[in-house]
Amino acid sequence: MILSYPILEISLSKIKHNTEKIVSICDKKGISVAGVTKGFCGIEEIAKALVDGGVDILADSRIRNLKKLKDIDVPKLLLRLPMISNAEEVVEYADISLNSELKTIKMLSQYASLKGKKHKIILMVDVGDLREGMFIKEDIFNTIESILELSGIKLIGIGTNLSCFGGVIPSDENLGKLASIKKEIEKKFDIELDVLSGGNSTSFHLVINDEIPKEINQLRLGTMLILGHDEINDKWIEDTFNDCFRLITEIVEIKEKPSIPIGKIGYDSFGNKPTFKDKGIRKRAISAIGKQDIDIDWMKAEDHSILILGASSDHLILDITDSNETYEVGDKISFILDYVAILNAVNSDYVEKILVEHYEVKDLNEEVLCTI
Ligand SMILES: *Cc1c(COP(=O)(O)O)cnc(C)c1O
Repeated sequence: MILSYPILEISLSKIKHNTEKIVSICDKKGISVAGVTKGFCGIEEIAKALVDGGVDILADSRIRNLKKLKDIDVPKLLLRLPMISNAEEVVEYADISLNSELKTIKMLSQYASLKGKKHKIILMVDVGDLREGMFIKEDIFNTIESILELSGIKLIGIGTNLSCFGGVIPSDENLGKLASIKKEIEKKFDIELDVLSGGNSTSFHLVINDEIPKEINQLRLGTMLILGHDEINDKWIEDTFNDCFRLITEIVEIKEKPSIPIGKIGYDSFGNKPTFKDKGIRKRAISAIGKQDIDIDWMKAEDHSILILGASSDHLILDITDSNETYEVGDKISFILDYVAILNAVNSDYVEKILVEHYEVKDLNEEVLCTI
């Protein structure tokens, strides 16, 4: 097979390993994990690695991604509030959805009834981040009263989402508030809610620090599984891989050049006015990838001595002066990707995706900062 670069190498075994690790940590606290697939556009093989690693549910914000997962035999959760125009497909491809609008829930109920199904919902409560969710307690109670009358819907729990719009950090306080609302609902309506869904990867630090309210029994984790990184404390989780996604690019030019451009400086190809520091003559490489494929602020070279200087749409400019390797035109330079770059690379048609089934133990994070 002739490989066409750039290549995104995705290690299924590393992703499975990370998932096993995170799932077992959550399991000890009585928390089940919904494995979030939107960071890699719902690629089926990767979703299977999450299931093999122990997640109970697969979750995505887009129905198009959930459709790809229809043959994997675990419940599917739709993360983004359903569009009314899409209600029929939501009921078809998602077993559960997160909701905050009665009008939408009524539509879901209609389609579920037509299909002879009960569609499960988790009602979203906004505890401060100001993205989705019901805000006023009276509204929550009134909405639940109506939901309980709908024949096509089963209310299985409530949930919240944080650190997304407002950047509000999950805490025992705001998640505690969610837990107390659940208790009030259960008492007022004499019902039991199975699920208290306590947020995304940014809630995981509470699990590690033993601060998560004991009532929280579900987390919806994506980033944590594919990166093993606790964003809130900026710590790597012990015994997880951070290089599940590697981008391999090919060098198309190597030249020694000054570090400051020659001539009057206007704007770069993305309309920014660049600034430069004079470091003298430097050895530079150009890799054949660019900003239409990748966000260069969210990646770093595996060879730590390589500096990313910048990029235009199709060219990535690197400073390789300090490297001990002797790179030549045609050689490959690889990068470890963070969340946004993974999302970009997976979405780029110009990046070839390759799934691999190996890992070497020496690849495990060296800077393990977090012990559990
Ligand atoms: C994206 C998303 C998640 C997962 O977020 P990560 O930070 O990747 O774990 C969880 N819940 C909702 C509602 C989301 O939109």
